[in-house]
Amino acid sequence: MDSETHRNKCAACYRQYNKVEHLIEHMRVSYHSVHEPKCGVCQKQCRSYESLREHLIGPLPKVECARVFSMRGCNLCLKIFDSSSAVRSHRTTCQFSRTMTGLISRMSRMNIQAGSCIDNGQMSGSRVVALVCMMVGGGSDGSLDVCARVCLVGEDENIIYHAYIKPQVPVTNYRYESTGIRPEHLRDAVPLKQVQRRIQDILCNGEPIWKIRSKGSKARILTGHGIDYDLKCLGVEYPSFLIRDIANYPPLMKTSKLSNSLKYLTQAYLGYDIQNGMQDPYEDCVAELRLYTRMRHPGHPREYAGGRGDGPTRNNYPAWRQRELERMTAEALLDLSGSDYYCWCLDAYN
Ligand SMILES: [Zn+2]
Ligand SMILES: [Zn+2]
Ligand SMILES: [Zn+2]
Ligand SMILES: [Zn+2]
Repeated sequence: MDSETHRNKCAACYRQYNKVEHLIEHMRVSYHSVHEPKCGVCQKQCRSYESLREHLIGPLPKVECARVFSMRGCNLCLKIFDSSSAVRSHRTTCQFSRTMTGLISRMSRMNIQAGSCIDNGQMSGSRVVALVCMMVGGGSDGSLDVCARVCLVGEDENIIYHAYIKPQVPVTNYRYESTGIRPEHLRDAVPLKQVQRRIQDILCNGEPIWKIRSKGSKARILTGHGIDYDLKCLGVEYPSFLIRDIANYPPLMKTSKLSNSLKYLTQAYLGYDIQNGMQDPYEDCVAELRLYTRMRHPGHPREYAGGRGDGPTRNNYPAWRQRELERMTAEALLDLSGSDYYCWCLDAYN
């Protein structure tokens, strides 16, 4: 390899370019930053955990990295450890299990069966809340999504709020196989208006919604999977800067930029199964919280929090500086780059 091609190698993803203009063009559209998932062996940065997984596990992995990973890598968080025994002891903390949730959710279901609406909103000090809605079918063919059950869970994995919701239109398909909802569940259900008000109160946590700012607010962070759709069906509005959507978070998306299912993400990154048969909104909430928490503590360098590389950045490689840019090293070019999404690790410092 001659020095010219070497110079045109991206310092983050290691792609190589014949011409420096092409490398600059690549930097313009890549938004590399310290927040990208990184290979613990060769330090290559990847857009998502999925592409890092491909790099380490396959189907066509980087041979040397795959070799090290197979001996000392954790297949859930994709980190590399010093020895195979270090990986083994790490695995016991990295792998989540379903047993506890099964128990709590059975208990919560017993409560719920009794027809009571659970409301611990007053008591919860949780800064993060996961929300899951369950939809039954309305309209002549039952294809209209009608929100019939909602569950909110806090960071301590306790239920903050749970209610069956009185449908606004006649239910034509209860979708029992996946929802487990029967007509009797909805007979004494809570009116939608009341549910909306309560959820808004819990999320805003005593702050008027128009007063909420992105920093220093009492309002809670809301996580979910495809949460915009849940909020739309519920008719609840919430500021987007407090929403952490697992389905649309770039590091958790497919390399094709499509969303991964919650079931897949839970299996791949937490190491257990959910949604076998009937869907349990409590269990889905817990999976979302655990995924969110994992993403909030990815081990990114602390010195970058709130500082450099926290995007969204615009025009870091302006055309008028082209000459100057062409003389820079690949590392200097990378230094100019910033993320085009908000990394959840910043929540840990804000
Ligand atoms: Zn690159
Ligand atoms: Zn980060
Ligand atoms: Zn590597
Ligand atoms: Zn791990």
